[in-house]
Amino acid sequence: MERYDCIIIGGGPAGLSAALYASRGKLNTLVIEKKEFGGQAATTEELENYPGSMEEPTGPKIVERMKEQAASFGTQFVVDEVMGIDTDSDVKRIKTRKSEYEAKTIIFAGGAEPKKIGCPGEDEFRGKGVSYCSTCDADFFTDLEVVVVGGGDSAVKEAIYLTKFAGKVTVVHRRDQLRAEKLHQEKAFANPKINFIWDSVVDRIEGDGLVERVILRNVKTNQLTEYRTDGVFVFIGTIPQTEILRDKVQMDEQGYIITNEDMETNIEGIFAAGDCRKKRLRQVITAAADGAIAATAAIEYVEKKFE
Ligand code: NAP
Repeated sequence: MERYDCIIIGGGPAGLSAALYASRGKLNTLVIEKKEFGGQAATTEELENYPGSMEEPTGPKIVERMKEQAASFGTQFVVDEVMGIDTDSDVKRIKTRKSEYEAKTIIFAGGAEPKKIGCPGEDEFRGKGVSYCSTCDADFFTDLEVVVVGGGDSAVKEAIYLTKFAGKVTVVHRRDQLRAEKLHQEKAFANPKINFIWDSVVDRIEGDGLVERVILRNVKTNQLTEYRTDGVFVFIGTIPQTEILRDKVQMDEQGYIITNEDMETNIEGIFAAGDCRKKRLRQVITAAADGAIAATAAIEYVEKKFE
């Protein structure tokens, strides 16, 4: 069984930043990522609020550099899915789909995934007009009409991004005020390609093979209206990917891991960082900061416990 000083679960900005710090701190470090390195940032086209980033900063570019930087200090990477974590002894065991590992310390940076609307047609038309990633799919909607569901930073920013491709973008929000930060709101309101439908949710998505329309429900009047569209982009928040640690580490009622300010969970030797953690602000910069803090604490922990 392969043994590491530090195993980081999740290869988004939190995990990659933790990897950089842990490797620079001379911990023999492995990052296990189940899908693609970079996490949600890898599907965020514009990342203009990461301090010091380049002229045209994109999520994919920044996370690629983060990974290269960690690798240059010796971090190893594997794509595999963690199936179980045994936290009972000082040296933790991680069982993955393809292998088994031992680690003196674990930094859990499993991130969060897009929340679904949960309406009829959403699953049926996924990849046939329903999308959770504009970076991946915007191109398919060149000169077409799309609906964006949600009113937070993601929905508003992605709606703005989609106007580079689509002919018309309609934001459908369940209230009459956006949650997104004011700067994004102002940009969206000033964009002639974006219009808003307030106090409404998507009741169902319909079409013949591909999305052709949504049925909207006004939450105040309950009235149903048909709205023609070629695509539905869903940005209504995220769900933490913490299932694997349920009943082991302390979480809030939504499944976000509770840590102290050193990113320590209630289990000695297990740290959490990034979007999977209960915190106020979930952005690339706060994920990266969490990772750095977690790794620094993990280095200290390994030194005290095992050396
Ligand atoms: P969010 O801030 O939680 O916003 C989710 C939005 O979806 C809210 O407007 C919410 O409505 C709506 N919503 C939630 N459940 C819904 C449902 N079942 N049906 C319809 N609408 C629903 O999520 P987010 O926009 O994905 O952002 C997540 C985090 O990342 C936030 O902390 C955000 O600030 C951050 N972020 C920051 C940036 C940036 O550039 N600064 C970019 C992207 C994300 P209500 O408003 O009524 O609750």
